[in-house]
Amino acid sequence: MKCHYIYTEDGEKVLIPGCMGTAAMGIENCTCRPEKTFAGFERERYNETVKALRAEIKDLEHENAYLNRIIKKLTKQKSRK
Ligand SMILES: [Zn+2]
Repeated sequence: MKCHYIYTEDGEKVLIPGCMGTAAMGIENCTCRPEKTFAGFERERYNETVKALRAEIKDLEHENAYLNRIIKKLTKQKSRK
């Protein structure tokens, strides 16, 4: 497992060390991705987070449309009586 961040329910960022460098001295000393700089690692995490949030928004939009259809159906049934 490589070093990565998790987000708590409060939106707090928590680093999960995956190598001795990070565990002992912090993310600046991560040896999981020797080809990447600390900034590159951060940028990658940022892009991943944005991607995940966009997917979540899409899911919510779909759910919203679905719920709206149900509401429309229910209000139609009611007005018929
Ligand atoms: Zn690491």
